[in-house]
Amino acid sequence: MAKNLTTRGEDYSKWYNELVIQADLAENSGVRGCMVIKPYGYAIWEKMQAELDRMFKETGHQNAYFPIFIPKSYFSKEASHVDGFAKECAVVTHYRLKNAEDGSGIIVDPDAKLEEELIVRPTSETIIWDTYRKWIQSYRDLPLLINQWANVVRWEMRTRLFLRTTEFLWQEGHTAHATKKEAIAEAEQMMNVYAEFVENYMAVPVIKGTKTESERFAGALETYCIEALMQDGKALQAGTSHFLGQNFAKAFDVKYATKEGKQEYVWATSWGVSTRLMGALVMTHSDDNGLVLPPKLAPDQVVIVPIYRGEEQLEEVSVVARELQKELRAKGLRVKFDDRDTQKPGWKFNEYELKGVPVRIAIGPKDLEKGTFEVARRDTLQKEVMDKGVVVDKIVALMDEIQDNLYNRALNYRSEHTTEVSSYDEFKEIIDTKGGFVSAHWDGTTETEERIKNETKATIRCIPIDVKQEEGSCMVTGKPSSYRVLFAKAY
Ligand code: AMP
Repeated sequence: MAKNLTTRGEDYSKWYNELVIQADLAENSGVRGCMVIKPYGYAIWEKMQAELDRMFKETGHQNAYFPIFIPKSYFSKEASHVDGFAKECAVVTHYRLKNAEDGSGIIVDPDAKLEEELIVRPTSETIIWDTYRKWIQSYRDLPLLINQWANVVRWEMRTRLFLRTTEFLWQEGHTAHATKKEAIAEAEQMMNVYAEFVENYMAVPVIKGTKTESERFAGALETYCIEALMQDGKALQAGTSHFLGQNFAKAFDVKYATKEGKQEYVWATSWGVSTRLMGALVMTHSDDNGLVLPPKLAPDQVVIVPIYRGEEQLEEVSVVARELQKELRAKGLRVKFDDRDTQKPGWKFNEYELKGVPVRIAIGPKDLEKGTFEVARRDTLQKEVMDKGVVVDKIVALMDEIQDNLYNRALNYRSEHTTEVSSYDEFKEIIDTKGGFVSAHWDGTTETEERIKNETKATIRCIPIDVKQEEGSCMVTGKPSSYRVLFAKAY
């Protein structure tokens, strides 16, 4: 039950942390920056995984699994890759503990030092491309379309539940292609798959785009991304897909024989989404009463709460409730009947509101007499009394209605919080007050981007895929610019 949840208006970031914990999604653990994902949170993650996995398979990918450890020498083979990840790596140096001779407890056995240190994977390009060398010889072996579901470790300094953790769960796709064109098409395809998932299942609208050079993945020639806007006006990078060129093929000597018998380096992509998506889901839709879940990802889409006095009434109500549960389940809905005698209806109402169950149905003795049900929507908090004859069809329809309403609400928020500016003063004012996405001209240099970041904390979230050509001048330097880019403060 909501124990005085801080409101979004009071302190958005506190609201988020309290909500994740109170709604039983996750909690902090004894390990710095690492979280425990609790059953309710994990159930949502499993739903996300299932849909994404289906979409990956429909686009021709297969799952495989590679080791969690990467020998240091592999890691350093691609220079910009190692540069990008060096500052956040966990390194295994020893393989044994022993009792200290002075009896002070368990210590690392200095005699058990590894000959070669192992990196706990922050991402798996290196170990995978070392393997691909053995798998790829000829054009017949291409394309190679592999995905891995795994955990990774990045030694993050400032962590937040789901949004940025030291260990996180994700999937990473790693594909190999005969041509540059094919690899670019793959990277774009996966950005589109991510956008489709996030919009259609999470009901979170996203902007598709490419990253600037300074925000690109270490080792990539192009990073495609999807960017979402949270209710506090900050952007969140929700997924990335990288065109890696031939960098990893060259570093790991992965060549294939063309039809004509020539030896060529292979072209690569990689792409990933993580448990950060859980954070995006919470931050986009939830309100001051708790979580709001889109029906497509809610572990329970409907909960039925009996209102009764005494065992006899409970039995009568239960007959009707179970019948309704059966009918709704037959329509493919996930329906829970909470007949626990240990909690009062009011407590249950609060609990399911906090947990974001899309629809709550209450059935009491009066409803039995009249043949009605009291149906409450979590998204609008509206209640409606429905007759027995129509309730099933209406609730089935309500699932789509709620899903669409959440998406449209988020889209409206984003439209209202996207501003075009023409001067740097205007830019600074919007970033400081209203927040959201700010569309502005920029001269295309890393120096100007860096200066804007230092002065305003806003970064270029992306160059939108559907960017319009528009002659203008950089808001900072006045140099010519031929399109606008999207800035925001980001998570
Ligand atoms: P990258 O490999 O850096 O392109 O990241 C792949 C995906 O993982 C992106 O969608 C990131 O938003 C997400 N991600 C990166 N770092 C973290 C982190 N520390 N915790 C959770 N998700 C992350």
